[in-house]
Amino acid sequence: MYPYKDKKIIIIGAGPAGLSVSSVLMMAGVKHKILEARKSSGGIVGDIQNELDDFIIGTYSDGKELKKKIDEFTQKYRPPIAYGCKVTTIDNANKIVKFTQDNKQRTIDFDLLIIATGLRFNIDHRFENATFKKDIYYRISYCLDDFVDKTVAVVGGGDNATIAAIRLSPIAKKVYLINKNNFWKSRKDLIYQIENNDNIYILKNSILNNIIGDKNIDKISITDNITNEVFDKAIDKIVFKTGYLPNTEIAKNTLKLDKKGYIITKNNFQTSSPDIYAVGDIASGVLKRIAVATGQGVELGNYLINEVL
Ligand SMILES: Cc1cc2nc3c(=O)[nH]c(=O)nc-3n(C[C@H](O)[C@H](O)[C@H](O)COP(=O)(O)OP(=O)(O)OC[C@H]3O[C@@H](n4cnc5c(N)ncnc54)[C@H](O)[C@@H]3O)c2cc1C
Repeated sequence: MYPYKDKKIIIIGAGPAGLSVSSVLMMAGVKHKILEARKSSGGIVGDIQNELDDFIIGTYSDGKELKKKIDEFTQKYRPPIAYGCKVTTIDNANKIVKFTQDNKQRTIDFDLLIIATGLRFNIDHRFENATFKKDIYYRISYCLDDFVDKTVAVVGGGDNATIAAIRLSPIAKKVYLINKNNFWKSRKDLIYQIENNDNIYILKNSILNNIIGDKNIDKISITDNITNEVFDKAIDKIVFKTGYLPNTEIAKNTLKLDKKGYIITKNNFQTSSPDIYAVGDIASGVLKRIAVATGQGVELGNYLINEVL
């Protein structure tokens, strides 16, 4: 006899966290469905440009190489993923998830819902359609040659911004590091490096007003938020390192979120709603690592089959 309760289980997101929950449910023969907005699985892993060297079980030259392994997993075990399904609303009162597929609105009902929707780049939408958008970057590792002998502005105040400025400083003509605050949210060793680098020009308390140019960027306009002085800097390229945003719009009217919009969970990954769980980058206070997301997914899968189903 089938040993588990027959519940409709929906997982949102086929990244490392969502796929790992699915792998445990599949092994136990528990029916479920994964709704994934993209056309393939692996989440943002395939977008990672840097070397992945923090797993003791293997290293990868970049995220694409690891994604190939994830694709091998999905081809072999065929987790029940519906691709191209972007969830738009969680209607917890009616236990329904609304999503779009092929431009059509669809719904699916659930008894248990697992949210594993991860993060996205914090994009400055003002410049999305600019004629000079080829000069705007969110990642640099794959295209360092673009910055050789160029004047570059890096926007941000955390580790990603300070690391980008340090990496660009030996190849760029000049690097402006633009931080809206008068403090850094970065590691002390990185702050030491930017403050002692002759080619990095630090602009604190500085708000980026505008990027000006035609086919290429000519200059940026900045406001000093202490003196209110407005000034320009001639630049060729701009790199945004302003962090990530959690993909929690679908949960904001349903679940308790922390101040930054991440889903608050208990030790068993349960959210403020007893039938909804959250794992991976989307959960509040979780270290953003593939190993953590997969570990949480496996743990939640086992919790569900041992304690809930
Ligand atoms: C530039 C960069 C470098 C990184 N480097 C490393 C590193 O060196 N080592 C390391 O361990 N980690 C690294 N990470 C972090 C790592 O990628 C994440 O911790 C991990 O991918 C989290 O997995 P996840 O499943 O929680 O989320 P994700 O991988 O983000 O997957 C979430 C999935 O949910 C889907 N989704 C989102 N919203 C919806 C919706 N509304 N409907 C349906 N589907 C949806 C997305 O399409 C995506 O497939 C890096 C991340 C980035 C961005």
